[in-house]
Amino acid sequence: MGHKSEPSTRLPIAILGAGLTGLAAARQLVRAGRRVTVFDPAPIPGGVIRSERHEPGWLVESGPNSLQETPAVADLVRELGLEHHRQPAAPAAKNRYILRGGLLRRLPSSPPAFLRSGLFSTRTKLRVLREFFRPRRPRLQDLPLADFFCEHFGPELLAYALDPFVSGIYAGDPSRLSARHAFPSLWKGEKEYGSLLRAQLAASRAKRARGEPPGPPPIISFTDGLAELPLALAASLPRGTLRLETAVNQLSPSPDGWILDAAPSERFDRVILALPAPALARLGLGPPGARTSLASLNLLEHPPVTALFLGYPRTDVEHPLDGFGMLCPSAEKSPLLGVLFNSTLFPGRAPAGHVALTVMLGGVRQPDLARQPLDSQLPIVEKALATLLGARRPPVFVHRTHWPRAIPQYQMAHDSYLEVIAAAEKRLPGMHIGGPVRDGIGLPACLSAGARLAAAALNP
Ligand SMILES: Cc1cc2nc3c(=O)[nH]c(=O)nc-3n(C[C@H](O)[C@H](O)[C@H](O)COP(=O)(O)OP(=O)(O)OC[C@H]3O[C@@H](n4cnc5c(N)ncnc54)[C@H](O)[C@@H]3O)c2cc1C
Repeated sequence: MGHKSEPSTRLPIAILGAGLTGLAAARQLVRAGRRVTVFDPAPIPGGVIRSERHEPGWLVESGPNSLQETPAVADLVRELGLEHHRQPAAPAAKNRYILRGGLLRRLPSSPPAFLRSGLFSTRTKLRVLREFFRPRRPRLQDLPLADFFCEHFGPELLAYALDPFVSGIYAGDPSRLSARHAFPSLWKGEKEYGSLLRAQLAASRAKRARGEPPGPPPIISFTDGLAELPLALAASLPRGTLRLETAVNQLSPSPDGWILDAAPSERFDRVILALPAPALARLGLGPPGARTSLASLNLLEHPPVTALFLGYPRTDVEHPLDGFGMLCPSAEKSPLLGVLFNSTLFPGRAPAGHVALTVMLGGVRQPDLARQPLDSQLPIVEKALATLLGARRPPVFVHRTHWPRAIPQYQMAHDSYLEVIAAAEKRLPGMHIGGPVRDGIGLPACLSAGARLAAAALNP
């Protein structure tokens, strides 16, 4: 494993949060020979990753639905012995539908398909071709993602490609997200190549040179759902590492180690805070009378999202559901953010003869709709699904999950939040903060955040 063992007499490291970020940090530290205690108020590990089986054969994902299998994810799946449960997305899932003019249209999945597609105008296609020759220009300041993207590809691609994509990932608004923080790879690509298309080509070549398969990483889950990953990670840790149903509200450094209110008789060498912004904002940090506050992180916008998992007899839905799902651009004024075709994406998520869909509602676009009760949401959703997918009867299975604060929005002011975090770490040496509040929101980014936090905590 290449890690040097530390003497076991050293104080353990405390990790707050047993979501994917905290568990990934714990795994790295244990592999480096350190003792670790992971605290979480929840009864099970995994944070927002929640997979539940419901009779007679529904598999509901309330939080994330799929995972990009980057090389780090592939290694972890192998190390945890999860290969036999690994479930790649079905081939049909390469189709993605976009709502345009009230109709579902297939999003082209390759450059030739884009040029042939009737989804975009000739003017936009020419504009995209021209982007390939865009020279490098200095860019001194961050700007809204929408402006950045429009500069490269024009307004039609912004409205019917980026906007729905951003809804699918951030439940966000590209005119309010920061180009530099929300899509750092695009930002870096422009800086190095001028053209995002040339940057993409260079990235594909570099991948090929490393012997990695071409194209984006595969999309995967597990036969019992995504929760298998955090559960396996947690099970790989030494017994007693996890302290569930235990929230930490206050922590403070002392000459003989960090003291946590949840474990007052114990001392810890370092503390890792793998928590979302609202939980960080509530913490009491440092000695009473000289508290360091992360309260301003509560201002970081996290729009509400409601996930409605709906089950239908196959014959009640006319659409072939031959894809990953559909996304609704804001220009279409649909009440839905998008719909995942769960039972196509990962077979085995619905009883025989049935299909499962997950409808996403709310986000920055319609936060009030996300907050409404199921009785108000369902008629709106049923009406939309009747028109869009030909689902003319009510669903036979309904499961609703409301996320009051779903996903952090890396907006134009994001630097100020990063400064608050960095300043707190400076004031309280030995405290390390990471996860989606700072390191990116996807699950692979959480694994990298865990590795970064562990490395920081091992640093003398
Ligand atoms: C609805 C939704 C859909 C998503 N879809 C996808 C997707 O399809 N693919 C993808 O890659 N990503 C997706 N994401 C993003 C991804 O799931 C998250 O970014 C990731 O799971 C966050 O993991 P985490 O460990 O950093 O935080 P969390 O999962 O939020 O875990 C933090 C943990 O900290 C605990 N905690 C809180 N307060 C305290 C305290 N005081 N002391 C100790 N512990 C505390 C909580 O109980 C929780 O278990 C989605 C997110 C949401 C909300």
